[in-house]
Amino acid sequence: MTASEPANSDSSETNPPSSDITPEVIFLGTGTSVGVPAIGCECDVCQSTDPRNNRTRCAILIRLPEGNLLIDTPPDLRTQLLREKIGLVHAVVFTHEHADHIYGLDDLRLFPFRLQRPVPLYCREEVESRIRTSYDYAFSTRTQTHAGSRPQLQIHSINNGDSFEVLGVQMTPVPLKHGPHFDVLGFRMGDFAYCTDTNHIPESSMERLRGLDTLVLDALRFTPHPTHFNIDEALEVIDQLQPRQAFLTHLGHDIDHGPVETSLPDHVHLAHDGLRLSMPSIS
Ligand SMILES: [Zn+2]
Ligand SMILES: [Zn+2]
Ligand SMILES: [Zn+2]
Repeated sequence: MTASEPANSDSSETNPPSSDITPEVIFLGTGTSVGVPAIGCECDVCQSTDPRNNRTRCAILIRLPEGNLLIDTPPDLRTQLLREKIGLVHAVVFTHEHADHIYGLDDLRLFPFRLQRPVPLYCREEVESRIRTSYDYAFSTRTQTHAGSRPQLQIHSINNGDSFEVLGVQMTPVPLKHGPHFDVLGFRMGDFAYCTDTNHIPESSMERLRGLDTLVLDALRFTPHPTHFNIDEALEVIDQLQPRQAFLTHLGHDIDHGPVETSLPDHVHLAHDGLRLSMPSIS
Protein backbone atom coordinates (compact mmCIF):
# COMPACT_ATOMS: atom_id res chain seq x y z
CA MET A 1 0.00 0.00 0.00
CA THR A 2 1.33 3.43 -0.89
CA ALA A 3 0.74 6.65 0.97
CA SER A 4 -1.57 7.78 -1.78
CA GLU A 5 -3.71 4.67 -1.66
CA PRO A 6 -5.71 4.82 1.54
CA ALA A 7 -8.23 2.11 0.62
CA ASN A 8 -7.38 0.08 3.71
CA SER A 9 -6.95 3.00 6.06
CA ASP A 10 -9.12 3.25 9.14
CA SER A 11 -12.10 5.43 8.24
CA SER A 12 -12.93 6.31 11.85
CA GLU A 13 -12.08 9.84 12.80
CA THR A 14 -9.43 10.67 15.38
CA ASN A 15 -10.23 13.53 17.77
CA PRO A 16 -13.83 13.86 16.55
CA PRO A 17 -15.74 17.08 17.24
CA SER A 18 -17.29 17.26 20.69
CA SER A 19 -19.66 19.69 22.36
CA ASP A 20 -17.40 19.45 25.44
CA ILE A 21 -14.61 21.35 23.68
CA THR A 22 -13.85 24.87 24.85
CA PRO A 23 -12.68 26.83 21.80
CA GLU A 24 -8.91 27.01 21.72
CA VAL A 25 -6.48 28.77 19.39
CA ILE A 26 -3.32 26.79 18.64
CA PHE A 27 -0.40 28.51 16.94
CA LEU A 28 0.85 25.94 14.44
CA GLY A 29 3.46 28.30 12.99
CA THR A 30 4.63 31.82 13.82
CA GLY A 31 7.58 32.35 11.47
CA THR A 32 8.18 34.48 8.43
CA SER A 33 8.08 33.04 4.91
CA VAL A 34 11.47 31.28 5.10
CA GLY A 35 10.97 30.10 8.68
CA VAL A 36 13.37 30.49 11.63
CA PRO A 37 16.08 29.27 11.66
CA ALA A 38 16.67 30.40 8.08
CA ILE A 39 18.57 27.79 6.10
CA GLY A 40 22.28 28.57 6.13
CA CYS A 41 22.03 31.47 8.61
CA GLU A 42 24.45 31.53 11.52
CA CYS A 43 22.96 34.48 13.43
CA ASP A 44 22.34 34.12 17.17
CA VAL A 45 18.58 33.59 16.79
CA CYS A 46 18.96 30.97 14.06
CA GLN A 47 21.54 29.18 16.23
CA SER A 48 19.48 29.64 19.43
CA THR A 49 18.61 26.71 21.67
CA ASP A 50 15.41 28.47 22.88
CA PRO A 51 12.62 26.41 21.28
CA ARG A 52 10.52 29.59 21.01
CA ASN A 53 13.01 30.79 18.38
CA ASN A 54 12.15 27.80 16.22
CA ARG A 55 9.37 29.14 14.00
CA THR A 56 7.60 27.27 11.23
CA ARG A 57 5.53 29.06 8.62
CA CYS A 58 2.37 30.86 9.79
CA ALA A 59 -0.93 29.16 10.54
CA ILE A 60 -3.32 28.83 13.44
CA LEU A 61 -5.83 26.12 14.20
CA ILE A 62 -9.00 26.78 16.16
CA ARG A 63 -10.47 23.82 17.99
CA LEU A 64 -14.25 24.22 18.02
CA PRO A 65 -17.12 22.02 19.21
CA GLU A 66 -18.00 21.33 15.54
CA GLY A 67 -14.42 20.56 14.45
CA ASN A 68 -10.94 21.86 13.74
CA LEU A 69 -10.76 25.07 11.74
CA LEU A 70 -7.43 25.78 10.07
CA ILE A 71 -6.34 29.22 8.88
CA ASP A 72 -3.88 28.73 5.97
CA THR A 73 -1.99 25.63 4.83
CA PRO A 74 1.75 26.44 5.10
CA PRO A 75 4.49 24.15 3.72
CA ASP A 76 5.14 22.85 7.27
CA LEU A 77 1.54 21.71 7.75
CA ARG A 78 2.08 17.97 8.15
CA THR A 79 4.77 18.49 10.79
CA GLN A 80 2.65 21.05 12.60
CA LEU A 81 -0.51 18.91 12.75
CA LEU A 82 1.47 15.91 14.02
CA ARG A 83 3.44 17.99 16.53
CA GLU A 84 0.24 19.40 18.06
CA LYS A 85 -1.66 16.09 17.84
CA ILE A 86 -4.51 17.81 16.02
CA GLY A 87 -6.09 14.83 14.28
CA LEU A 88 -8.19 15.90 11.32
CA VAL A 89 -8.92 19.33 9.90
CA HIS A 90 -12.61 19.92 9.14
CA ALA A 91 -12.41 23.25 7.28
CA VAL A 92 -9.77 25.70 6.02
CA VAL A 93 -9.96 29.46 5.65
CA PHE A 94 -7.25 31.28 3.68
CA THR A 95 -5.79 34.73 4.34
CA HIS A 96 -4.02 35.06 0.96
CA GLU A 97 -2.26 33.16 -1.77
CA HIS A 98 1.44 33.61 -0.94
CA ALA A 99 3.49 30.42 -1.07
CA ASP A 100 4.14 30.31 2.68
CA HIS A 101 0.37 30.22 3.27
CA ILE A 102 -0.88 27.69 0.69
CA TYR A 103 1.86 25.20 -0.19
CA GLY A 104 0.94 22.60 2.41
CA LEU A 105 -2.54 22.02 1.01
CA ASP A 106 -1.75 18.55 -0.35
CA ASP A 107 -1.20 17.39 3.25
CA LEU A 108 -5.01 17.35 3.60
CA ARG A 109 -5.30 14.70 0.86
CA LEU A 110 -6.02 11.81 3.23
CA PHE A 111 -8.70 13.60 5.24
CA PRO A 112 -11.77 13.09 2.98
CA PHE A 113 -11.54 9.33 3.65
CA ARG A 114 -11.94 9.92 7.37
CA LEU A 115 -14.42 12.77 7.03
CA GLN A 116 -16.47 11.00 4.35
CA ARG A 117 -16.59 14.31 2.46
CA PRO A 118 -14.25 16.79 0.77
CA VAL A 119 -12.45 19.33 2.96
CA PRO A 120 -14.23 22.69 2.56
CA LEU A 121 -11.95 25.63 1.73
CA TYR A 122 -13.06 29.23 2.19
CA CYS A 123 -11.13 31.82 0.19
CA ARG A 124 -11.25 34.87 -2.01
CA GLU A 125 -11.23 34.59 -5.78
CA GLU A 126 -7.49 35.36 -6.01
CA VAL A 127 -6.64 32.52 -3.64
CA GLU A 128 -8.96 30.12 -5.48
CA SER A 129 -7.27 31.00 -8.76
CA ARG A 130 -3.80 30.29 -7.32
CA ILE A 131 -4.98 27.02 -5.76
CA ARG A 132 -6.52 25.90 -9.06
CA THR A 133 -3.24 26.70 -10.85
CA SER A 134 -0.84 25.31 -8.25
CA TYR A 135 -2.90 22.18 -7.53
CA ASP A 136 -4.24 21.63 -11.05
CA TYR A 137 -4.14 17.85 -10.53
CA ALA A 138 -6.80 18.18 -7.82
CA PHE A 139 -9.23 19.55 -10.41
CA SER A 140 -8.37 17.22 -13.29
CA THR A 141 -11.34 15.73 -15.12
CA ARG A 142 -9.36 12.58 -15.95
CA THR A 143 -10.46 9.46 -14.09
CA GLN A 144 -8.33 8.92 -10.99
CA THR A 145 -5.91 6.00 -11.28
CA HIS A 146 -6.83 5.07 -7.71
CA ALA A 147 -8.90 6.57 -4.93
CA GLY A 148 -6.98 9.19 -2.99
CA SER A 149 -4.55 10.01 -5.79
CA ARG A 150 -5.59 13.62 -5.63
CA PRO A 151 -7.09 15.96 -3.02
CA GLN A 152 -10.84 16.39 -2.80
CA LEU A 153 -11.42 20.10 -2.34
CA GLN A 154 -14.69 21.97 -2.08
CA ILE A 155 -14.10 25.69 -2.54
CA HIS A 156 -16.46 28.27 -1.05
CA SER A 157 -16.02 31.86 -2.20
CA ILE A 158 -15.76 34.60 0.37
CA ASN A 159 -15.32 38.32 -0.14
CA ASN A 160 -14.16 41.42 1.68
CA GLY A 161 -17.53 42.36 3.09
CA ASP A 162 -19.81 39.51 4.07
CA SER A 163 -19.52 37.49 7.25
CA PHE A 164 -19.80 33.75 6.77
CA GLU A 165 -20.32 30.72 8.98
CA VAL A 166 -17.79 27.89 9.31
CA LEU A 167 -18.15 24.99 11.77
CA GLY A 168 -20.85 26.90 13.63
CA VAL A 169 -18.78 30.06 14.04
CA GLN A 170 -19.50 33.41 12.42
CA MET A 171 -16.36 34.79 10.75
CA THR A 172 -16.00 38.43 9.78
CA PRO A 173 -13.44 39.13 7.06
CA VAL A 174 -11.10 42.03 7.81
CA PRO A 175 -9.53 43.43 4.59
CA LEU A 176 -5.84 44.26 5.07
CA LYS A 177 -3.10 45.67 2.84
CA HIS A 178 0.10 43.62 2.46
CA GLY A 179 2.18 46.26 0.70
CA PRO A 180 0.55 48.72 -1.69
CA HIS A 181 -0.58 46.22 -4.32
CA PHE A 182 -1.64 43.12 -2.41
CA ASP A 183 -4.82 42.38 -0.49
CA VAL A 184 -5.11 39.98 2.41
CA LEU A 185 -7.97 38.98 4.68
CA GLY A 186 -7.75 38.93 8.44
CA PHE A 187 -10.59 37.28 10.34
CA ARG A 188 -12.59 38.11 13.43
CA MET A 189 -14.49 35.46 15.41
CA GLY A 190 -16.28 36.79 18.48
CA ASP A 191 -13.72 38.91 20.30
CA PHE A 192 -10.69 37.16 18.75
CA ALA A 193 -9.00 38.37 15.53
CA TYR A 194 -6.12 37.04 13.42
CA CYS A 195 -4.37 39.56 11.16
CA THR A 196 -1.15 38.29 9.60
CA ASP A 197 0.77 39.52 6.54
CA THR A 198 -0.12 43.19 6.66
CA ASN A 199 1.49 46.58 6.97
CA HIS A 200 -1.67 48.68 6.70
CA ILE A 201 -5.17 48.30 8.11
CA PRO A 202 -7.73 50.52 6.35
CA GLU A 203 -9.96 52.57 8.64
CA SER A 204 -13.07 50.53 7.77
CA SER A 205 -11.19 47.42 8.86
CA MET A 206 -9.97 49.08 12.06
CA GLU A 207 -13.66 49.50 12.90
CA ARG A 208 -14.11 45.72 12.61
CA LEU A 209 -11.33 45.23 15.15
CA ARG A 210 -12.73 47.34 17.99
CA GLY A 211 -13.56 45.75 21.33
CA LEU A 212 -11.34 42.69 20.99
CA ASP A 213 -10.22 40.46 23.80
CA THR A 214 -7.32 39.04 21.76
CA LEU A 215 -5.64 40.35 18.61
CA VAL A 216 -2.97 38.42 16.71
CA LEU A 217 -0.98 40.78 14.51
CA ASP A 218 1.90 40.64 12.02
CA ALA A 219 5.26 42.00 13.26
CA LEU A 220 8.18 40.82 11.13
CA ARG A 221 11.20 42.56 12.64
CA PHE A 222 12.44 45.87 14.10
CA THR A 223 13.30 47.71 10.88
CA PRO A 224 10.58 48.79 8.42
CA HIS A 225 9.52 46.39 5.67
CA PRO A 226 7.48 47.15 2.52
CA THR A 227 4.79 44.53 3.19
CA HIS A 228 4.84 43.71 6.93
CA PHE A 229 4.44 45.71 10.12
CA ASN A 230 7.58 46.04 12.17
CA ILE A 231 7.40 45.86 15.97
CA ASP A 232 6.86 49.60 16.48
CA GLU A 233 4.13 49.77 13.83
CA ALA A 234 2.36 46.77 15.32
CA LEU A 235 2.50 48.32 18.79
CA GLU A 236 1.00 51.52 17.35
CA VAL A 237 -1.96 49.57 15.91
CA ILE A 238 -2.41 47.72 19.20
CA ASP A 239 -2.39 51.05 21.00
CA GLN A 240 -5.15 52.33 18.75
CA LEU A 241 -7.31 49.21 19.03
CA GLN A 242 -6.78 48.52 22.75
CA PRO A 243 -7.44 44.77 22.81
CA ARG A 244 -7.12 43.15 26.24
CA GLN A 245 -4.11 41.26 24.95
CA ALA A 246 -2.18 40.98 21.69
CA PHE A 247 0.21 38.41 20.20
CA LEU A 248 2.73 39.18 17.47
CA THR A 249 3.33 36.62 14.72
CA HIS A 250 5.07 36.11 11.31
CA LEU A 251 8.32 36.75 13.18
CA GLY A 252 11.72 36.80 11.48
CA HIS A 253 15.18 35.96 12.77
CA ASP A 254 15.75 39.48 14.15
CA ILE A 255 13.41 38.60 16.99
CA ASP A 256 15.08 36.80 19.91
CA HIS A 257 12.09 35.58 21.89
CA GLY A 258 13.33 35.95 25.47
CA PRO A 259 14.69 39.52 25.45
CA VAL A 260 12.10 40.88 23.01
CA GLU A 261 9.20 39.42 25.00
CA THR A 262 10.55 41.11 28.12
CA SER A 263 10.77 44.47 26.34
CA LEU A 264 7.12 44.52 25.20
CA PRO A 265 4.22 46.14 27.09
CA ASP A 266 2.59 43.79 29.63
CA HIS A 267 -0.46 43.05 27.44
CA VAL A 268 1.58 42.36 24.28
CA HIS A 269 3.38 39.06 23.72
CA LEU A 270 5.32 37.24 21.06
CA ALA A 271 3.48 34.20 19.76
CA HIS A 272 5.48 31.00 19.44
CA ASP A 273 4.88 27.65 17.78
CA GLY A 274 2.72 25.47 20.00
CA LEU A 275 1.25 28.35 22.03
CA ARG A 276 -2.38 27.64 23.00
CA LEU A 277 -4.99 30.20 24.01
CA SER A 278 -8.30 29.21 25.53
CA MET A 279 -10.93 31.36 23.79
CA PRO A 280 -14.36 30.42 25.21
CA SER A 281 -15.96 33.47 23.61
CA ILE A 282 -15.24 32.39 20.03
CA SER A 283 -18.34 30.28 19.51
ZN1 LIG B 1 3.48 35.12 5.02
ZN1 LIG C 1 19.38 34.05 11.21
ZN1 LIG D 1 2.24 37.15 2.46
